[in-house]
Amino acid sequence: MTFPFFRNTYSPVQGQTYSLFGDGITTYQYFNSIEKIIDELFREYTLESLVGECRELSQIPFLKRVLVKNKADNHLSNKITDLLFEKLAIYTPNAGNHLKKLSWLKLREQVVWTTEKQHHLYMLEIGILNRMNIQNFQDCEKKIAFLPYCLRDECLDCKAKKEDFDKVCKECTKSCLIGIISNFLKKQGVTAYIWSGKSLKPIFKRHHSKNETLGVLGIACIPELMNGMRMCDKAGFTVIGHPLNANRCAKWMGTWHQNNIDLVQLEEMLIKKQYKTN
Ligand code: SF4
Repeated sequence: MTFPFFRNTYSPVQGQTYSLFGDGITTYQYFNSIEKIIDELFREYTLESLVGECRELSQIPFLKRVLVKNKADNHLSNKITDLLFEKLAIYTPNAGNHLKKLSWLKLREQVVWTTEKQHHLYMLEIGILNRMNIQNFQDCEKKIAFLPYCLRDECLDCKAKKEDFDKVCKECTKSCLIGIISNFLKKQGVTAYIWSGKSLKPIFKRHHSKNETLGVLGIACIPELMNGMRMCDKAGFTVIGHPLNANRCAKWMGTWHQNNIDLVQLEEMLIKKQYKTN
C-alpha cells in the first residue's frame, strides 16, 4: 500500500446527500460497483453514447424524465435508470430528505438542488469519462489538479501560496490531506492547485493561447465535480475526476466539516488500472 499514513486517517464520513461508504467502512464497494455497471452497459452501448444518455437524462425536467422512462422503446434510458437506482441508492440515503427540507432561499445555488437520480447519473458519467480520458490525460504535456479546501487540516495556519492557476500547497505538515494528495500527484507529474471557487473559464482562456495540451483532474463533491468536468470537456480539455467521499462543506451542511477521499482508488485510476475501452 502506497499510503500508510492515509490508512490511519481514512474513516467513514457522512454527507448531506451522499456518502461513498454506503453502509460499509471503506469506499471500495462503491468504485467497484461503478466499474461493474459500466462494464455491463458497455457490452451493448459505446462509452460516447452512454455519456450522451447520462447528460440527457440528468438535464431534462422531471416530468419529461417520467415520460421518457415510460416510453416502451427507450431501452437504454430505462436500463440506465433502473440499474443505477438498484446499485447506487445505498450511497444516496439522504438525497430525497435534503430536497424536502431545502429552503427556497437557496434557489440560486443550483447544485444543492441535485436530485437522487441526478446523483446516480453523475456517478456513472464521471466513471465513464475517466475510462474514456485516462490515457489522453496521461499523455498531456501539462497536467493539473484542482483540490477543494475541505480536505485541509482546519487546525493549521495554511502556508499555501498563489501560483499560476491558483494556490499551491507548501506541504507544511504531514497531517493535512491536501499536502498528502499534492505530494502524491507531484510524483505523477500533476501539479495540484487548491481551488478557490473562481470560474474556470478565464483559466482555460489563458491556457488556450499556449501551445501545449492540458489535462485536468478534478476532485470535488459529485454535483460540483460533474459541473467542472462538463465545463472542461466543453472547453476541449482532457478531464478526469475523483469524487469526495461525501458532500460536507458549508454549502451543503451549513457549517464546515472536514472531508476525505479514497487515495488508494485515486492511485488505482492514475497508475494501475487497465480499463476496457473497446
Ligand atoms: S499542508 Fe498544504 S494545504 Fe495543508 S495547511 Fe500546509 S500548506 Fe496548507
